Amino acid sequence: MLEVKDIHTYYDDSYILQGINLKVNPGEIVCLLGRNGAGKTTTMKSIMGYNHPRKGTILFRGQNISRQAVFKNVRMGLGYVPEDRRIFSELTVQENFEISFNSATEIRWTIDDLFGTFPLLDKFRHRKGGELSGGEQQMVAIVRALACQPKMLLLDEPCEGLAPVIVGQLSDIIIGLKEHFPILLAEQNAHFALEISDRGYIIDKGLIRFSGTRQELQENKENKKRYLSV
Ligand code: ATP
Repeated sequence: MLEVKDIHTYYDDSYILQGINLKVNPGEIVCLLGRNGAGKTTTMKSIMGYNHPRKGTILFRGQNISRQAVFKNVRMGLGYVPEDRRIFSELTVQENFEISFNSATEIRWTIDDLFGTFPLLDKFRHRKGGELSGGEQQMVAIVRALACQPKMLLLDEPCEGLAPVIVGQLSDIIIGLKEHFPILLAEQNAHFALEISDRGYIIDKGLIRFSGTRQELQENKENKKRYLSV
């Protein structure tokens, strides 16, 4: 579904991603684990097309999207939930969903499907985004991405700053979404990510230091200590 091959990404002269390789197959949740500043968001932005890699290749659904514009990637089915959520605080939850519908030809999620599948959000339907708690806003951000009819989802640190009880609800939502499309999950919180992921990668200083199944990552205490401070 997604294959990232040896990408090198910069911010002006700052050399950040120094040859990242990763893969997400259909039906998988794959996590990208790393500390603050390890390069997780830069990897997500490179895939989405916000910051194209100077070298390397990104294949999505068999097509080379390494230099493709963000809107084309979204149209092809790449859904993105950024770290800062970016929901519209002056719009209601329903309006946040409505303006996110894109011109996808194949509509799998209608407004009614979104509220039907996530009844928790139905009671906030007419509340403004800015009046919701952090956890509720995160749920809106994730569910809103479905309005773009994604074939795959990139989730950047969804549980950052959220209370443990909300993190539990988010886990259930993310596991539920796996039935519909594969997910690449960037996280600092290894405990949360490994509970719900099938496989994962550890990134540090712009390089993948370790990759393995959930079990291999859970059992590899040395790498977790070295790169994740766990
Ligand atoms: P965080 O959890 O803090 O978001 P991260 O793993 O997502 O961490 P990135 O945001 O990808 O890390 O940052 C990787 C490196 O790139 C860091 O050293 C950071 O300071 C640098 N960086 C990020 N954004 C920019 C930018 N716009 N200009 C220059 N350097 C940047």
